[in-house]
Amino acid sequence: MDRVSKRSREIPPFIVMEILEKAHKFESQGRNIVHLEIGEPDFTTPACICEAASNAIKAGKTHYTHSLGIIELREAICEHYKEKYGVQLVPEQLIITSGTSPALFLIFSALLEAGDEIIISDPHYPCYPNFADFLGAKPVFVNVYEEDGFQLRPDEIKKKIGPRTRAVLINSPSNPTGNLLSRERMEEIVGLGPLVISDEIYHGLVYGEKEHSILEFTNDAFVLNGFSKLYAMTGWRLGYLIAPPDFIRPLQKVQQNFFISAGSISQWAGLAALTEAGDDVELMKAIYDERRRYMIQALRALGFGLPVEPVGAFYMLVNAKHLSTDSYKLAFEILEKAGVGVTPGIDFGENSEGYLRFSYANSIDNIKDGLNRLRKFIETR
Ligand code: PMP
Repeated sequence: MDRVSKRSREIPPFIVMEILEKAHKFESQGRNIVHLEIGEPDFTTPACICEAASNAIKAGKTHYTHSLGIIELREAICEHYKEKYGVQLVPEQLIITSGTSPALFLIFSALLEAGDEIIISDPHYPCYPNFADFLGAKPVFVNVYEEDGFQLRPDEIKKKIGPRTRAVLINSPSNPTGNLLSRERMEEIVGLGPLVISDEIYHGLVYGEKEHSILEFTNDAFVLNGFSKLYAMTGWRLGYLIAPPDFIRPLQKVQQNFFISAGSISQWAGLAALTEAGDDVELMKAIYDERRRYMIQALRALGFGLPVEPVGAFYMLVNAKHLSTDSYKLAFEILEKAGVGVTPGIDFGENSEGYLRFSYANSIDNIKDGLNRLRKFIETR
C-alpha cells in the first residue's frame, strides 16, 4: 500500500511553478532570465497599506479574528460593491479568507458532492479543475476560442448541463486570456439555471472597458475576490467570498475547522487597501496598460496569433502553433535557449495546447528585452 494518499499523489503540479523553478535554477548558475511567466504584480505593496499593517502590529491586533473576518473590512467590501456595481450586500454574506485560493476551496467544498459536476472554460486557471478533482467532483470543460476573445458561449455551456451539474465557474477578466466576458453573456449564463461562481480577482485591472460583477444580474451566486492582484498583495494572503445566505453557516464551519480566520494584520492592511490606496492602484493600472499596449503589438509583430486585444488582468494568451504544437516543450526551449520564462498553454487545459501565456507584470524594459530575445530565438530556430 502507498503511504501517500491517491488524492495527493494524483493532483497535477502547477506547471508555471515548474518553469519558475527551472528559471531560478538557471539564475543561481549566473544566467539572466526575463520573467514573463509569473502571475504576480512586480510592484511592492503601496506604502499606505504597509503602514496600516505596521500600525495594527503596534496596536496589538495580533490575535485570531472572527472566523468571518473583522467587521470593518467586511463593511468596507460591502461599501465597495455598492459604490462600484450598485449591489447591496450585508457583512453576514461575506467571509474573509487567507487569499482567494482558500475561498475557492471553501465554496467547492460546500457545493460539491463526490460525482457532482462543475462547468469550467478551457482555457482556465489551472487550479479550478484540480480543486474539483481533489474533492471527488468532476470538472466539465467548455472550450472557448481565440476568434471569440476566449469568451464563454452560453449555448455551449447549455449543452454540457446535466443532472449532476452544480455550478458554472466564470472568471472575467480572465487568467490566462486577459479577456472580459460581456454583460449580455453574463446575463445569459445566469439564466441557464445552475449557480454561478464568479472569480472576480482581476476586477479593477481593466483597461478602457468595464467589468461586471455577477451580483449585478443575480444575488443567488458566489463571488470570489482578493487583494493579491489589484493591490499587489500576493504575499499577504488575503481574499474573500460572497455567498448566498444559506451557504454562509456551512462555509463558516469549514473556515473555522480548516483555517480559523484570515491573518489579522493582513485584514487591517486590506481595509487600508480599500479605503486609502485608490491613487496607488490608478498608477499601477496606467503602467500595466502601457505595457499591455506594447506587448500586444510586439507579440503580433513576432508572428503570434492574437485576434482579439486583451483588456484586463496582466496576461495575454497567444497562438504559437506555427512554432510548435507542444507548448510544454516550447516553453522550456524558450527558457533554455532564449532565457525567457513563458507559461505553456497546456497548463490551462487541453484546448489551450499550442498557445503561450505572456504576463506583463514586469517592467517595460524587461518586457522589451524578453521579446527581443524571443525574436532572435525565432529567427535562428
Ligand atoms: N483566481 C485566479 C484566476 C488567479 O489567477 C489566482 C492567482 N494566480 C487566484 C485565483 C488565487 O489568488 P490568491 O490566492 O493569491 O488570492
